[in-house]
Amino acid sequence: MIAILKKNASETEVGRLTAWIERKGLATHVSRGENEVIVGLVGDTSKIDPFLLESMDIVERVQRVSEPFKKAGRAFHPADTVVDCGHGVKLGGGYFQVIAGPCSVEGEGLARIARRVRAAGATMLRGGAYKPRTSPYAYQGMGERGLDLLREAADELDMPIVTEIMDPRDVQAFLDRRIEVLQVGARNAQNFPLLKEIGKTDVPVLLKRGMAGTVDELLMAAEYIMSEGNPNVILCERGIRTYETRTRNTFDLNAVPVLHHLSHLPVVADPSHATGYTRYVGPMALAATAAGADGLEIEVHDDPTHAWSDGAQALTPDMFDQVMERIRAIRAVVAPEVA
Ligand code: PEP
Ligand code: MN
Repeated sequence: MIAILKKNASETEVGRLTAWIERKGLATHVSRGENEVIVGLVGDTSKIDPFLLESMDIVERVQRVSEPFKKAGRAFHPADTVVDCGHGVKLGGGYFQVIAGPCSVEGEGLARIARRVRAAGATMLRGGAYKPRTSPYAYQGMGERGLDLLREAADELDMPIVTEIMDPRDVQAFLDRRIEVLQVGARNAQNFPLLKEIGKTDVPVLLKRGMAGTVDELLMAAEYIMSEGNPNVILCERGIRTYETRTRNTFDLNAVPVLHHLSHLPVVADPSHATGYTRYVGPMALAATAAGADGLEIEVHDDPTHAWSDGAQALTPDMFDQVMERIRAIRAVVAPEVA
């Protein structure tokens, strides 16, 4: 971190500032140019609040030199991370996977949808047993029974499960059922007790970007999980809230190459929640594949008008068949060496 000081900073003021920084256990390096004085902060800068430093009278501006996401960032880990999701399914570093299934686990119908998405080429099964609904009166999910139904359907097809966990107290129920990938939803992207708790396991995590989360906030959320010891984090762009009202969210596809640039972690894109309407899911699934996503998460339902949640954005199995064919064609172009 460096602090660029105002032109009129006196020797005494600079001395006071460096003493303040040094009292926090960091070393300082002062460089005096003709027009400005720059103070370099050397050591563990996490002890310094950059906004507090910038608020000081003699400080013009503060700039970070290295990123704060040490474990999620590429700087100390240049190679792409490949996350092993079990059942022979790897994600990241050239391994591309499609996660598909209904928004909610609704009962026995799950197995029927699972067979169709598997036949179409999906390699991981999704379905929510715990649903984060905006209204407390809306359907909240089947809970543990939903996890059991997921387990049965996935075992029949030899597929890993991706399902949302909302409460740190539920971790054991997920571990007991050998859930392969814990999904942290957009609404929990900064639920730090939850992130820390799943960081203590070694179960892969699909970490979604918060509804109004920046790329940096997503990476710092990943850092919460990784700093507890769990390296198996998959990042997920699922759209952010903007002023646009024609879609449920605004799909920030920039985030895919940006995250690849900043981080070694795999990046999955979710065109279902990003757009909110069935008619837009296919085109944006293809766009995300073309942008270099390591995987997609897509909601599929065989009777969308009667779905218990998110029917408006579900693809039918027939639509999913067609989208999968096109995804394979795009993959052959963007990653010919692994397609
Ligand atoms: C979901 O995957 O069904 C879900 C609730 O997603 P998000 O957290 O992205 O809204
Ligand atoms: Mn959903």
